[in-house]
Amino acid sequence: MKWMKIFFLLLMIVCSQAGVLWAKSILVHTNILNVRHQPEGNKIGRVYRGEQFIVLQEQKGWGKIRFLYDQHGWISLQYTKRLVQNAKISIQSFCQKLNQEFDQLQWKNIRCHEKDWQANMQSVNGNPLIYTVVGKQLPVTLLLCSVHSDENTTYQCLRLLQLLHQQPELLDHRVVIAPLVNPDGFLKKYKTRTNARKVDLNRNLPTKDWRFKALKSWRDRYSSNKRRYPGNTANSEPENQFVIDLVQRFNPDKVISIHAPMNFLDLDYLDSSKTNQKQRIVLKKAEALAVRFSKESRYKFLNYRTFVGSLGRYGKEWKIPIYTLELPSADYTKSEFYFQTLKQSLFHAFNVILDQRRTAQIVPVKPNTIN
Ligand SMILES: [Zn+2]
Repeated sequence: MKWMKIFFLLLMIVCSQAGVLWAKSILVHTNILNVRHQPEGNKIGRVYRGEQFIVLQEQKGWGKIRFLYDQHGWISLQYTKRLVQNAKISIQSFCQKLNQEFDQLQWKNIRCHEKDWQANMQSVNGNPLIYTVVGKQLPVTLLLCSVHSDENTTYQCLRLLQLLHQQPELLDHRVVIAPLVNPDGFLKKYKTRTNARKVDLNRNLPTKDWRFKALKSWRDRYSSNKRRYPGNTANSEPENQFVIDLVQRFNPDKVISIHAPMNFLDLDYLDSSKTNQKQRIVLKKAEALAVRFSKESRYKFLNYRTFVGSLGRYGKEWKIPIYTLELPSADYTKSEFYFQTLKQSLFHAFNVILDQRRTAQIVPVKPNTIN
């Protein structure tokens, strides 16, 4: 069967060169869509506008998806929209822009190098949404920086990659790094929390309660605070579609998202109800990791609440431990100091396995290797 392997390898190379996708990601494009046991079969669940999935199998206009963390079913693809992804987005001029910005911030220790990153999606303003895959062994940790671009956390992600290039032996497992989730907010003259369409990305993720709660709670609880605008519909922003695509494709056993300036570590994983024995074991491990992280790095570990459309709530729904690390300030002159206090704890977190089941990577991706 060796020739078969060679054939598929060649096919993948041809496909990637031609800009063909390695996975079909779709968005639900109607308010409510039934999930069925098989095409035209019995209803087994529902999905909602803005929810995003990978099509695992296709059959006469129907697509098989993982619609909950442990359940699969079929939906009619005519009520979905395919995500536009392109394997060949130029990163070179983007890196030049970033490096100018880093110079302005006097971030002397970091540089954006085109060869370090890949991108298959773009922001509202057309900037590449860059990420990289480092390390081989599963499971995967997903690390996100600059969801809110006025918090200056991109430094932590780039500095970490630089250290990994110098000392690859520090990493036992795979980490996927997305260093600048909100590039449009970062490249503005005055950096913004929100993206180019003035949406708070951490209120726009497709949580199940979004359609009936997001705009209402924004108006009632947050007095329509512009910094927390959740958007018109769930997951309307390409930056969030990028994040969900990474989560769905790499199936991480934990996500670490770096923010500022609240100075704590927060863990979101399980709702108190509907948990099973396995999940409670993962929770214990996840909490032990948070306690250790907190001791080493001196970030207070607390149980902060989640919000409609936030990553924490999405993680609870998908049973993925989400660590939100809030740096003490957005002061960019302290970025290197913060990195030094964090780096050891971050590596420990990457190297801890929380959930053995989360080892399957759903679709192949073009791997980056450490140079
Ligand atoms: Zn933030």
